Amino acid sequence: MRETPAVELPAPVVQREQPLVIYVLPVYDEVDGVDAFHAALVEATARRPDLRVEFVYVDDGSSDGSLDRLLELRAGDPRVTVLGLSRNFGHQLAVTAGLDLAHEARPDAVIVMDTDLQDPPAVSLELIEVWESGADVVYAQRRSRRDTLFKRTTASSFYWLLDRLAETHIPRDVGDFRLIDRRVLDVLVTYREHNRFLRGLVANLGFRQEGVLFDRDARVAGESKYPLRRMLRLAADGILGFSTFPLRLISRLGGAISALSLLAALYAVVVRVLFPAHAVPGWAFLGVGMFFLGGIQLIMMGVIGSYVGRTYVQSLNRPLYNVALVARGQETPAE
Ligand code: UDP
Ligand code: MG
Repeated sequence: MRETPAVELPAPVVQREQPLVIYVLPVYDEVDGVDAFHAALVEATARRPDLRVEFVYVDDGSSDGSLDRLLELRAGDPRVTVLGLSRNFGHQLAVTAGLDLAHEARPDAVIVMDTDLQDPPAVSLELIEVWESGADVVYAQRRSRRDTLFKRTTASSFYWLLDRLAETHIPRDVGDFRLIDRRVLDVLVTYREHNRFLRGLVANLGFRQEGVLFDRDARVAGESKYPLRRMLRLAADGILGFSTFPLRLISRLGGAISALSLLAALYAVVVRVLFPAHAVPGWAFLGVGMFFLGGIQLIMMGVIGSYVGRTYVQSLNRPLYNVALVARGQETPAE
């Protein structure tokens, strides 16, 4: 009879590596503010020496020398990676490019924030704390914002409308300032749609999402790169990407107009029968009706057109962005 030898297995050596958090930082013509931003971010993150922190700056085709400034930052800080896009692709694509690059480094979490100091670096530490307590996505929600009255009213009406229309619940007053855990990022990078509304996409992914309230500061330098035209485009991407309400509106309006024309027909019959002396006019009714219907039809064709346009762009399946330069940080993460 053989005795089973008592095998002592050595306790597994658990290597507790420091969690890696990568900041994804879109930059478009921020030459006057980006140094101050980086300094503030470095100062804030220094309060968490237990984390490994890296910074991915995405230069979104700046024309004011921001790229050179970023490369200088990289020379002075080995944790900085600079990604230069070949032209201005817009904030949402710049962030996407940064997320894709960050994803390659297999971080434990990424944090997206603006580089104009409107998103305070200290708040990103709060996002990290909530993430450490178990959340997968932690978004920073504006309690207050110091922007122009125009920006505040347009933004709040947009969020109101989006809340009413979107089929996914997209939290209000939340920009792209957020922390995303690795497993959510793994999924997010597989979304390759062109008309991107990232905050909607992330909300759409699910997982455990929590908010942190913060007060949005004023810009440190320069001007907003989101003029009305771009804001409207983003708003359209938000609504068309997450709601089919505009399409359903066509049939609703069609229904309402048919009901109205039925009433009008009834009116015509009543006049003809009861007040035949007044029955001749009608040109006004026809004229107004023609223009009214023509206008409605055109507006609604526009609605269809915007969906068709999206289908078209998606079917072209072009790459979302083209990278002209990758200057990685000298500190390559150990595999
Ligand atoms: N941004 C970008 N590409 C653009 C426009 C903006 O990368 O085409 C960056 C910009 O540098 C900033 C962030 O996106 O870090 C938010 O832009 P901005 O501050 O102009 O928007 P706002 O805060 O006014 O909504
Ligand atoms: Mg800003």
